[in-house]
Amino acid sequence: MSRSVVKFGGSNLKSAGDAARLALIVRGYRDPPVVVVSALYGVTQQLIAAAAASKADASVPASCRDSILAAYARAAEECVADPALRSECLRAMSECGERLFRLLSGVNMIGNLWPQVNDSILSFGERLSSCLLTFAFRSAGLPAEERLPEDIGLFTDGSFGQAGVELTRSRSSVLASLPEGLICVVPGFYGISERGEITLLGRGGSDYSAAAIAWCVDAVSCDIWKDVDGFMSADPKIAERALPLPRLSYAEAAELSYFGAKILHPQTVDPVERKGIPLFLYNVNAYGGERLPQTEIGRRSWGGAPGEGEPFTVKSVTSTDDVGVLRLSGPALGGKPGLLGRCADMLSGAGINIKSVITSQTCINLLVSRADMAGGTAVLNGTDMPELESVEALGGLSLIACVGEGMLSTPGVAARMFSSIAAEGINIFLISVGASPVAAYCLVGEVERNRAVQAIHREFFG
Ligand code: ASP
Ligand code: MG
Repeated sequence: MSRSVVKFGGSNLKSAGDAARLALIVRGYRDPPVVVVSALYGVTQQLIAAAAASKADASVPASCRDSILAAYARAAEECVADPALRSECLRAMSECGERLFRLLSGVNMIGNLWPQVNDSILSFGERLSSCLLTFAFRSAGLPAEERLPEDIGLFTDGSFGQAGVELTRSRSSVLASLPEGLICVVPGFYGISERGEITLLGRGGSDYSAAAIAWCVDAVSCDIWKDVDGFMSADPKIAERALPLPRLSYAEAAELSYFGAKILHPQTVDPVERKGIPLFLYNVNAYGGERLPQTEIGRRSWGGAPGEGEPFTVKSVTSTDDVGVLRLSGPALGGKPGLLGRCADMLSGAGINIKSVITSQTCINLLVSRADMAGGTAVLNGTDMPELESVEALGGLSLIACVGEGMLSTPGVAARMFSSIAAEGINIFLISVGASPVAAYCLVGEVERNRAVQAIHREFFG
């Protein structure tokens, strides 16, 4: 058997009738795939707001349950044609809704939202979607069954909100619980800790669920369905001449996701790369009975320039505003053994992730998420490290990254990247080249972000 893992995201479930379209796509697979699904479009956002608002407002649990159930009921009305199946589906959905209601009511009663409760609440969008799709597929005559991460043993490292999947530990139970010949529908976005707690894989985490399951079942491919044209040479909203990228290497896709391309959850590439499983990105709007990937991600990169056949190295320029710098200063800081390790320990103890480090003799620059700048400054200011003269938070920045296989081994590529920005009169705060063989990045003022992306895109793609 050659089984794929197929992931449908919120962008594939925007209007009530969309699930029926997904049944057609699934029918097109020769061997029944594993289907991983995320919440209806916008539902996770609604759950996040409701979880927070429930702390103080007793009316939220019921109104959240009712409005989310109404959206799913509309989808079931449209996509589960068989009346008996439809009422079974609606019944299963309202049971889900009641469990959600009880969790939100608990938050209201206690007036506090603990991370484990938050993760459980946010998993309900995916749970309702897997229920919907299972019945929509069955009603379309497909052999489908729902399988929850807690039932199949999709284990995580247990960190709430942003867990990693423990692949080796999950493999045998996942494989045994997803029989071939059956379309198993699995809610994405979460797994369970060793202690059986629901743990989220981070926003957009269903991509990562799909890739992890693909690893566990040795899938022939991991197919991620979206409503856009896969990876592009830049965000087309910023660079209007952005080109679609038919092929990327694993490393290129991983770096682009890390540096802000919002196409894939950044952890998605890792499981599939380990086994060389191809990752295909499809656009649901381009589907006319034949599966034609927009981007294929695998061991090989793409060598030809569009229309010209001329090899080129830089594949894409991407940007993110979710970056800030914690600048630690002090005389000869760069030469103090153990200092960086201590700072990193303190930050990780406070749950703060360091995205990158750039050091010099008198400064250590730690790149963190914007949301972590204030907390990170407070943590580092609270240390008793006499070597540290000051800790400064630098905000208002954007990170611009260029990604391409061979970029660093090709002379002049990084120079072209930075001089194209400089030629626009844009000041560069920091540069990092060499940390990854396929990526280089710099920080510029946020207000200059679009002009910088446009300049680099013009330089490499015309
Ligand atoms: N529904 C979740 C989110 O919006 C997970 C996902 O979409 O993959 O983040
Ligand atoms: Mg999503």
